[in-house]
Parts: sequence; structure tokens; C-alpha cells
Amino acid sequence: MPTIFSKIIAGEIPCHKVWEDDAHFAFLDINPWVEGHTLVIPKAEHDYLFDMDDDSYTALHLAAKTVANLLKDKLGCARVCTTVIGYEVPHVHIHLLPTNQMSDFAKPGTFGMKEKPDLVALAKRITS
Ligand code: 5GP
Repeated sequence: MPTIFSKIIAGEIPCHKVWEDDAHFAFLDINPWVEGHTLVIPKAEHDYLFDMDDDSYTALHLAAKTVANLLKDKLGCARVCTTVIGYEVPHVHIHLLPTNQMSDFAKPGTFGMKEKPDLVALAKRITS
């Protein structure tokens, strides 16, 4: 059975796409921790990051670098932080988190922004 992220890539579930290439796809997280919270995923299904073969692992990180630079450029943030968790969705994804200061992060255990940003407007800003 395809993962929820494979369904997003296939267009069966809507998303706010910000970038893609032949093998990777990037879209705004539906429950952002910070404004511009983006997930970068391989189009091929892999459950666990460190089980990926070296070429796929390296290519995913290069894709994440491209998207991080795009976010920094378009959103004008100080730095894009990153993390990989993967307990919720068993399809490898790198979280990219545009930030200006440490306090932009919610306290651990309270992930999620109180005020949800306008994802449509944000996706337009990043892709324009
Ligand atoms: P993790 O697996 O790293 O713990 O978290 C999965 C992430 O995927 C969460 O930040 C969650 O908000 C995001 N997510 C889960 N389902 C969807 C979805 O259908 N659309 C989008 N855009 N993000 C999702």
C-alpha cells in the first residue's frame, strides 16, 4: 500500500508543492512548527533514512540543500535548520525549518504553530 507521501506525489492528496526534480519532491508541512516548514522526500519509498543506499541518501541531502537555499532566498530567513524524525509517516522526509532565532522553535513537546500561516500564499512566495 502506498504511503501518504506517495499519494501526495501522485496528486491523490493535495499539498502545497514548492519544488521537485526527477527523484525528489518538496512541500509545505500541513502542521508547521515554523513558517515555511517544508518536507523534502525521495519519490521512491524508503522507511528509514539510514537504511537508504549511499547514492539515494546523498542525492536526498543534495535535494534538501537546494530547497533550503530556495527557502532562505525567498523567505529571507537567517538560517534553515533541519531534522529527521519519521515516527508519523514511514516515508523518509527531511524537515526544513526556516528560522531567524532559536526562540522561533516551539518548546519541545509543543510542536506546531499557534497561528497557522497561509500555506497557499507561502507556497506562491517560495515558487515565484
Ligand atoms: P514525522 O514522521 O517526522 O514525525 O512527522 C511527519 C510530518 O509530516 C509531520 O510534521 C506532519 O505534520 C507531516 N504530515 C503528515 N501528514 C501530512 C500530509 O498529509 N500533508 C502534509 N503536507 N504534511 C503531512
